[in-house]
Amino acid sequence: MKFEKDIILNLTQKIFDELKQCNKKAAPIEACGLIFGDVEKVSITFNEYKIHYIAKQFYCLKSNIESIGSFNLIKDSDKYFEIHQEAVNEKNLRLISIFHSHPVPAYPSAADVQNMEFLDKDVGGVRNPFKNQIWSIMDMNTEDINGFIYFNNELMQVDIQILEK
Ligand SMILES: [Zn+2]
Repeated sequence: MKFEKDIILNLTQKIFDELKQCNKKAAPIEACGLIFGDVEKVSITFNEYKIHYIAKQFYCLKSNIESIGSFNLIKDSDKYFEIHQEAVNEKNLRLISIFHSHPVPAYPSAADVQNMEFLDKDVGGVRNPFKNQIWSIMDMNTEDINGFIYFNNELMQVDIQILEK
């Protein structure tokens, strides 16, 4: 898999702690949640730039599935609507990452990749709000976290940086 170092998910230490908390609470079931924030394109040179996904708010969701490997949070649409209302409409943030945890190494499963492909598509000419977000996956045991994006029909790993403050 390609590692795209110019796409970066910036987590604060506070949000990283919240992700770890969310993981601990759900284990041994997969945790899941949504990270909202901003996306900024930062120029490095004339034709080079980095894309920063800047995390500002995390919502830990109760995983509504018991089986390891499946992942179903989007189907809990009432809960999603409530969160969207607050994060997007009131706080003016956008969804930047779907977070979940894995009992096995923090890489996308075959089902995750299918979901990524599915969520990358626009439906009926309406921009899909789940498009181009980063999938952040935490190893349930080590708390290592990796980020992935499905972009232009390609699955890539992205950089995750944890900032103090
Ligand atoms: Zn998964």
